[in-house]
Amino acid sequence: MRQYPRSLNKLINELGKLPGIGGKTAQRLAFHILSLTDREAEELADAISSAKKTLRYCEVCGNLTDSEKCKICTDESRDGSVICVVESPQDVMAMERIREFKGRYHVLHGTISPMDGIGPNDLNLASLVKRLQAEPDVNELIIATNPNIEGEATAMYIANLLKPSGIKITRIAHGLPVGGDLEYADEVTLLKAIEGRREL
Ligand SMILES: [Zn+2]
Repeated sequence: MRQYPRSLNKLINELGKLPGIGGKTAQRLAFHILSLTDREAEELADAISSAKKTLRYCEVCGNLTDSEKCKICTDESRDGSVICVVESPQDVMAMERIREFKGRYHVLHGTISPMDGIGPNDLNLASLVKRLQAEPDVNELIIATNPNIEGEATAMYIANLLKPSGIKITRIAHGLPVGGDLEYADEVTLLKAIEGRREL
């Protein structure tokens, strides 16, 4: 890349830091960006910087939002008695796509993973405990972490932590392929996983 001007090298370098983008793809994207009109390029840059500036985590559930509380937490038509616990905002999107779940969510932002040095305190978990105390109407917690070792360990941890509260705690069924990601599951599989949930 030494033959490229410095600013082009920088662009390629930054694009190459994105997940799933190898060196060749980064170059292709950089040249594509150069072929855009000034206005189009500005819109792209603006989309990145305004997303970074305005998006934050919902103070109730941890989902992505551009205000204090997310749309789901403020939607009065949602069922406040069920909370579905997921790993990431992408998982909320996946669940919303099936249009079957009418409850609310809690986003952990990860899973317990001792190998990576991630413990329960690194997750958005303390706020779930507080939330359950503040929302006495909640009577079921569906744990929808991914069906892999970390996801299962996290589900067991939450179940043990919250069992004394008396709330029904369920785990989505294993219709999902083991090791698979909720985010990429098709709608039918996801729906079956919810319907087939079992109590922990
Ligand atoms: Zn929320």
